[in-house]
Amino acid sequence: MTPTGRIHNFGAGPAVLPLEVVEECRKSLPNLDNSGFGLIEISHRSQTFQNVVDSSIEKLRRILSIPEDYTVLYLQGGASLQFYMSALNLLRENEKVDFLITGAWSQKSMKEANRIGDASARWDGAENGFISIPKNGEYSVRKDSLYLHYTSNNTLFGTQFHHLPDSNGKPRVLDASSDIMGVPLDVSAHDLIYAGAQKNLGPSGVTVVILSPWAMQRVPNDLPTMLDYSVHSSKGSLFNTPNTFGIFVLDKVFSWVENNGGLEGAIARNRAKSDLLYKELDRSDFWTPHANKDSRSVMNVTWRLPNTELEEKFLKESLDAGLGGLKGHRSVGGIRASLYNGCPIESVEALVSFMKDFEESNNR
Ligand SMILES: *Cc1c(COP(=O)(O)O)cnc(C)c1O
Repeated sequence: MTPTGRIHNFGAGPAVLPLEVVEECRKSLPNLDNSGFGLIEISHRSQTFQNVVDSSIEKLRRILSIPEDYTVLYLQGGASLQFYMSALNLLRENEKVDFLITGAWSQKSMKEANRIGDASARWDGAENGFISIPKNGEYSVRKDSLYLHYTSNNTLFGTQFHHLPDSNGKPRVLDASSDIMGVPLDVSAHDLIYAGAQKNLGPSGVTVVILSPWAMQRVPNDLPTMLDYSVHSSKGSLFNTPNTFGIFVLDKVFSWVENNGGLEGAIARNRAKSDLLYKELDRSDFWTPHANKDSRSVMNVTWRLPNTELEEKFLKESLDAGLGGLKGHRSVGGIRASLYNGCPIESVEALVSFMKDFEESNNR
């Protein structure tokens, strides 16, 4: 346990947030910004809350260097709704769209796009157990495809793009749910980026969607209201009642990021944390990392032990030692440590120290 009694939380999402952000939530619950209204009791139409929306979007734009003519939305329904909504807004029947299938989330997004148009997997890592990321040149984007969709970080398998995928000059659509604001990102090289907040940005229930002018122009006229990006844009993400609590937390997380070196600071901390953990994984054959070296994720680190009995023992003893959320996703098994922005390096140091002891006692 940490001095605060909180566990070292390696959960994949909802995930650990900076303690000072959690404390600010507690302070604002009975009375938000001296308005007299509590944080989860205030109208989304109030000026107090409008200030929260405005200041959070301003910070988000600054941190990610979002071009001025891009639209930023806070929506609900998670990244999972964006699988369908992005295709519904961009694509027409009979139009083609290309996908890089690097994990379960990309599979799901392609399935939804297929409800609208002709979606094709241009690269698929399923047969190899999703251990790697395609290099440019290992796939081709169709000449008559509308856009290329990819998932920058594969939360379940622990692989990650460390380059901008070649899209053959087509717009890029990105699911950045598990690495947004944690790694370098050239927003201007994309036309639509979506991310559920509950990994790197805040609590569940808010989805950040970033759209280029091209993407906004693609939105057809006759969509169901709640699935129409232009409706949410014209109402400043307040067409209906948003997740007010979630947006408040985002605002505090963005302040925390800006006060701690901005995006560059977050990138450096995430690299330091993952370097520390991969160094331990490479130290002993007792650990078998899941991802190929050049495709390793800095956000989700996945590995196996010699057998499932030892993995269960590892999970039990690590929890007893105050290290939580380490169970791998059921489709991969083994161990997964998620090292999102809110995870402090002290947690990774505690994990590595536990791992060294565990290896010494169990490696025969
Ligand atoms: C968690 C996750 C999702 C699903 O997000 P929901 O908000 O639960 O819909 C989609 N894509 C990626 C890359 C994720 O990590």
